[in-house]
Formats: sequence, C-alpha cells, structure tokens
Amino acid sequence: MGEEERAAGIQRYIGVDVGGTNIRAGVVDAEGRILGEARRPALAEAGLRAAVARAIEAVEEALHNAGLTVADVEGLGAGVPGAHRSAEGITIYSPNFADSRGVPVLPPIREAFGLLAFMLNDVAVQTLGEHRFGAGRGYSHMVMITLGTGIGGGAIIDGELRVGYTEGFAEVGHMTIDPDGPFCECGNQGCWEAVAARDAIVRRAVTRIQHGRQTAIAEMVDFRLGSITPALIGRCADEGDDVAIEVLEETGYYLGVGCANLIQLYNPQALVIGGGIAQAGRRLFEPITRTVRARAHMVPASTCRIVPAQLGDDAGIIGGSVLAARELSRHRKEAREVAAPEEQPQAVETRSEMDREQEPGL
Ligand SMILES: [Zn+2]
Repeated sequence: MGEEERAAGIQRYIGVDVGGTNIRAGVVDAEGRILGEARRPALAEAGLRAAVARAIEAVEEALHNAGLTVADVEGLGAGVPGAHRSAEGITIYSPNFADSRGVPVLPPIREAFGLLAFMLNDVAVQTLGEHRFGAGRGYSHMVMITLGTGIGGGAIIDGELRVGYTEGFAEVGHMTIDPDGPFCECGNQGCWEAVAARDAIVRRAVTRIQHGRQTAIAEMVDFRLGSITPALIGRCADEGDDVAIEVLEETGYYLGVGCANLIQLYNPQALVIGGGIAQAGRRLFEPITRTVRARAHMVPASTCRIVPAQLGDDAGIIGGSVLAARELSRHRKEAREVAAPEEQPQAVETRSEMDREQEPGL
C-alpha cells in the first residue's frame, strides 16, 4: 500500500457483534458496506472469555472472506452486552455470559491483531450503526430501543452517542413501568422488559390459552405452550387471530408507555425500534404510536417519529465499524493537538507501529 493511500486513510474497519446466541464479525467500508463476514456460536454458558477467543477466529475468517488482511483495516469496534470500562476494554458485567464480571475483551483482540480496538454496550453500538447508515440517518437527536429477550437502548444527543457515568445508559429495559408488575431478573419489579419483552409476550398468550380462549397459536404448537414464540404470535396476528392481536395490542400499550417516557426524557426527533420482536410490524407499531400520542404531551408525540430499524442483524457489525471510525478520528485529533501546527499534515499522515500499539486514550 502506498503512503498516499495510508495518508488518505484506509477507511475499512472491523465490526464485532457479541450477541447472546451468535458472535459476528464483519469488515465494513466507510459507506457501511459489509465486504466480508463470519460468525461463531456465542455459547454463552461457556463464558465470555471463551467467546472472545471465538470472536478473534471470526475476525480472521471475515478478513479472509473479504480477501483482505489486518493491514487493510484501520481499527476494530465491538458491541458487547452489558456495561463496561470501555477504555480498558473490560466488562463491568455482561448478561447472558457465565463469567460476566471483569472479563478482558479488548486486550486479547489488540494482542491478536495489533489493531486499535474499541468497545461499547451492544445496543449503543447498534445505535451508532442505525444513526450513521440506518433509520436514524440525518437526525441529531435519536433514541433507539431493541426488543428481544430484553429491551436495550441507546441515545444520540446533539449528534453524539451518550452512555452515562457507568456506561449504563442502555438499561432502559429496567425503568419501572408497572410498580406492582412482575418481578424482573434484575431484582426490581415491573421493569419495562418484564412487561413488554419476549417472556411477557409469550406469557400473555399462554395465560389466555389456559383460560380456555380458542386461538391458532395453541394449534400451531400442538398445545406445547413452551414452544410459543413472539414470531409465531406475530404470524397468527397477521392472519387475523383475535388472541394474537390482543397480545400484541397489550404489549404495544406497555411499549408505548415506555416510549412516551423516553420522548419526555430525551426529546428525540426519531425513536428507532429494532430487534427481532419489532418485526411484528404494524400490529405492534400501531398500539405503540397510539399510546405515545395519548401520553406524550409536554414533549409532544408529534415532534418524534417512531420508526423501525433498517439495518436488521447487521446493525451490530456496521455500528462496530462506526465506533472504530469515530474513536480513531478522536485519537488522531488528539495526536494533532499534541503536534505543533506546522507539523499537522505529518501528524495526520502517520499511523506508525507506535500508534497501533498505543492504548487509546479515550
Ligand atoms: Zn429489571
């Protein structure tokens, strides 16, 4: 590679998405295009340390699949569930994984590739992806939530991702929505995710079936109620099943209550809803929007668009590349500020081995 290309910036990054089920790695260019990717099972019960080792394999394979080597990328960004001391690359905690506390995530990655590497909460990273290349494009104020086994969140305020003092602003799923509601795994009662995430949705269907309601949901799982999923309920609702429609209606109500709260708190232009459950589509979005209109007044509902996410499963790896690009740009800006003004062009140009090995000063 010529010095000129290096000076202009390689502008390819690796995004890593550590999920509860899969670990994905992708090589992503500056336009958000995935040039090559690979995945490994998360095997959460085997712990996060082992998952990081598999993430390193996935990165190697993603580079291979893109026909590139580590010299062809500028840096790496990873999304990992939970809260972290991200500058050190160590988890504070990470739900799902057996050994979630104090696990070094970035040190082994930096050692394996000699790359500058960065990490944040998984939904914060997805928020960066949706903001730069997805449903949040062009908005300076955006909140994202993801609906799945839990509810995660991220916020862009004045064009900048905000994460909070202990990088805890992802935990919108644990704001109390129903003070007397079901207990949550976090120890609180009536958390948003305890009334509106996966298990709550399935519970609504199961309760109705146990009360003798006739529904296609039960028939489709041969009355094995443990096999009911939100996706199945969504399909039944599309076919006009009354119970399925009620379940999504009630879930949408609780989602709408939380969304109205977030709109009061963050005054966003857009509230982006992602995650598998969001694929239930209008049957869920209609009650969400209706509830927000009924409840959001001081910051009016009309000021905020509620839209589905656009990047789907790719939000994590694309967001990882955005994180890497953002942090590398900060890193270089700091380097330029240290350099004398007349040396500026040179400071921009160099990305020496010393830069690569240096721990990022976040
Ligand atoms: Zn909770």
